[in-house]
Amino acid sequence: MQPVTRFAPSPTGRLHLGHAVSALLAHDFARERDGSFLLRIEDIDPGRSRAEHVDGIIEDLLWLGLEWDGELVYQSERLPIYAEALERLKGEGLLYPCFCTRADIAASVSAPHGPEGAIYPGTCRHLASPDLSRAHAWRLDMAKAAALAGPLSWADHGVEIRAEPERFGDVVLARKDAPASYHLAVTLDDAAQGVTDIARGRDLFAATHVHRLLQALLGLPTPAYHHHRLLTDAAGERLAKRRQAPTLAALRADGTNPEALVAALRRGELPAGYSLAEA
Ligand code: GLU
Repeated sequence: MQPVTRFAPSPTGRLHLGHAVSALLAHDFARERDGSFLLRIEDIDPGRSRAEHVDGIIEDLLWLGLEWDGELVYQSERLPIYAEALERLKGEGLLYPCFCTRADIAASVSAPHGPEGAIYPGTCRHLASPDLSRAHAWRLDMAKAAALAGPLSWADHGVEIRAEPERFGDVVLARKDAPASYHLAVTLDDAAQGVTDIARGRDLFAATHVHRLLQALLGLPTPAYHHHRLLTDAAGERLAKRRQAPTLAALRADGTNPEALVAALRRGELPAGYSLAEA
C-alpha cells in the first residue's frame, strides 16, 4: 500500500524550523515510498487562526521545495462533517453539555492534572435538564467511552503503545466558541483523507491517546504514528511560535539557501544553536 502522509499546521503564526523538520519528515516518508503528501490547514480556532498565515505557510513550504499533492484542505470548510460525528456520539449517549467556564474548573481545587492540564471534575456530567440555550461545550463521558471501546493501542515507530485516554478525563469535543475540538477534527480528517502515516512532533504524542479512542468510537482506521523529537533553541527552549522562534520567513530574509538547509536537515544536521530535545 502506498502511504499517505500530511502536514497539518494551524495558521496561527509563521512557520519556524520545527515545522520545517516535521513537514520534511512527512514529505520524505511519502516520496520515498511513492506515496502522497497532503497539506491540511487546521483553521477552526476562531480566536487564533488568520487567513494571512495560510499564505505564509504556502510560501514557506514552496520556499523549502516541499510540494503537496491534491487540493489544500481547510478544516473550516468541514464543519458539517464534525457536526455529524458529534451527533452520532451524542446519539450513543457519550457526550454531555458542559456550561463551566475555565475559572469554574480552575476553582475546583481538587482537580487532578492530566496531560492537558486540570482534569475536568465532572460538574456537568449528570445535569437533569441542561438549558441548551446557554453557551455550552460538549464533553466526552470518558469512563463510558473507554469502557465501550475496550483496550486500545497504536504503533509508534513500530512500537505498540497502549492507549490510556482515561488520563485526560472528559475531554471537550466541541468548544463553546468552536464547533469542533482539535481532537475530533484531526481524527476525522486523517481518516477522510486516507492518511496512513502521521509524522508529527512529540508534543502531540499524548493527544494520540484521545485520537485512538475517537477512532474506535467512530469506526475509523488507525494510522501508524511517527512522533519525532522536538527542536530546541540555544537556550534549550522548545521552538514555539509564542516564544518568538526565528521564522522560516526570517531565515529567508537573512539569505538562507533553502536547498542547502533542506539537504542539511535530511542529513540530520541542524543550523547552529538548534538541537533535538531528548524527551
Ligand atoms: N494543527 C496542529 C498544530 O499545528 C498539528 C496537528 C497534527 O499534526 O496532528 O500543532
